[in-house]
Amino acid sequence: MTQRTSPLPRNCPNCDGFASAAVTTGGRDQSGHLHTITADCPACHGTGARTTRRNREGARV
Ligand SMILES: [Zn+2]
Repeated sequence: MTQRTSPLPRNCPNCDGFASAAVTTGGRDQSGHLHTITADCPACHGTGARTTRRNREGARV
């Protein structure tokens, strides 16, 4: 039983693939649109995916 039956997980373990989120700051502009800022996951820097090598590097920190 040396073959893998499922592919390795590629999603970032911190954000589970949802790497970016728009966060409202509470205000609206003159046309009524919400003011938003984009927050990227600090672990994968907004990519949503991490390799196993990067996981090992992150585990040592
Ligand atoms: Zn992430």
